[in-house]
Amino acid sequence: MSKDDPTPDSFRDHIATVNRDGSRKWIYPKKPAGRFYRWRTIVSLVFLIILVTLPFIKVGGDPLFLFNVTNGRFILFGVVFTPQDMHLFALAMITMMVFIVLFTVVFGRVFCGWVCPQTIFMEMVFRKIEFWIEGDANQQKKLNKAPWTTKKIAKKTTKHFIFALIAIIIGNIFLTYIVGVDEVTRLIVEPISDHIGGFLAMVIFSGLFYGVFAFFREQVCVAVCPYGRLQGVLLVKNSIVVIYDWVRGEPRGKIKKNRKTKDSFQALPIADKLGDCIDCKLCVQVCPTGIDIRHGTQMECVNCTACIDACDEVMEKIDRPKGLIRYDAYDKIEKGEGTILTPRVKAYAGVLIALLVFQGFLFQSRSDVEALLLRTPGMLFQEADDGRISNLYNYQLTNKTTGILSDIRFELVSPLGDVEVVGNIPNIDKASEVKGSLFIRIDPDDLDGRKTKLKINVYSGGVLLDEIRTNFLGPIK
Ligand code: SF4
Ligand code: SF4
Repeated sequence: MSKDDPTPDSFRDHIATVNRDGSRKWIYPKKPAGRFYRWRTIVSLVFLIILVTLPFIKVGGDPLFLFNVTNGRFILFGVVFTPQDMHLFALAMITMMVFIVLFTVVFGRVFCGWVCPQTIFMEMVFRKIEFWIEGDANQQKKLNKAPWTTKKIAKKTTKHFIFALIAIIIGNIFLTYIVGVDEVTRLIVEPISDHIGGFLAMVIFSGLFYGVFAFFREQVCVAVCPYGRLQGVLLVKNSIVVIYDWVRGEPRGKIKKNRKTKDSFQALPIADKLGDCIDCKLCVQVCPTGIDIRHGTQMECVNCTACIDACDEVMEKIDRPKGLIRYDAYDKIEKGEGTILTPRVKAYAGVLIALLVFQGFLFQSRSDVEALLLRTPGMLFQEADDGRISNLYNYQLTNKTTGILSDIRFELVSPLGDVEVVGNIPNIDKASEVKGSLFIRIDPDDLDGRKTKLKINVYSGGVLLDEIRTNFLGPIK
């Protein structure tokens, strides 16, 4: 209990980062240490290396990944997606949602603690720099309360200068995933006046990242992130989460001299026997979202494992088994048993597999070139001097490959007839499209009447790119 937490249950009334008067409660988490923290540091390093190097990896001159939302160009693993592939993207989004749901039902919020960019940058980059410059939690508190001396100004200026620098780097990396590394290089080396839009984007992203990591911090996970908000409906009693073993830990109580060793602890009279939690509150002090995991699974918990490490250290010191706080499921702790393969999990898995198979089929049958041929709106058929009937069409060809398509021609497969393109069909650059018009002329004897079905092939050189089926209008027979 504290001034801000006067009753044992008051944590339910307000979030840990807000004081009772509604003001922000700044969190000063103690520096974590332990096996999970070491592993998370390694995972974060790998993640950061991948994040920074990916934009530089190119396949056929194009980046491996690109999410250019401004011109609707997306590249995933070197495969180009255009606005015509939107159905694939929509399906991929649905598949991802199902995967997230399934993953969360089984493994809780493990993503947040280990690979979420927000947690990695906050806890493994910015927080480490803060510990390095301002010291551990108590020293930070002391520094913030201290008057503005030269030493404090120097520390704060250095910290925020480094924060701003890293935010600019993150902003630029983020931009490389949207416009590509070449465009970002141009933004950096060429005059600002040539890239006002890009420069503004760079400033906005950098400013946003600086604001988030220097000030907004855990509020992103606690109040903004939609995934965090979903926890309440996704988690089940079998989900594996960072959890406090209340069966083993309660009733909690301060350590007594004769509880120092396992043997003397066991020898205590029953009435005196307390759980393993010695109420040292170290698990609370290391928590970056300011919660007490002993209250149970909470929406604010990002599964960062800092409390596991802190408690393990305590358990080691009082000679009790590690894992009073650990990765486990509610049911496992309460009943001592539980299975993750619940009917709900099986149903999600079934839907996910079906979606993945369907998605795989669509990807497999996706053509490299998208050809669209539509009769020009408002035009009926015309009768030529030689007696043949002609229809005017608009065509659109989209090149989804990473190479240039040249020598393009249309060929009417059935029925017999001619295709006459208005002008020339230009070469189609990678991931771009061309539009134009063409006439199709058919002998009236070969027509089925008012509407005849056509089959047209599109070639680049001798290579068949796509097959088009459309209708041809003619006189009623
Ligand atoms: S660190 Fe462990 S022993 Fe200390 S209060 Fe938390 S759960 Fe209890
Ligand atoms: S409760 Fe533990 S795992 Fe959850 S955010 Fe706090 S320290 Fe991290």
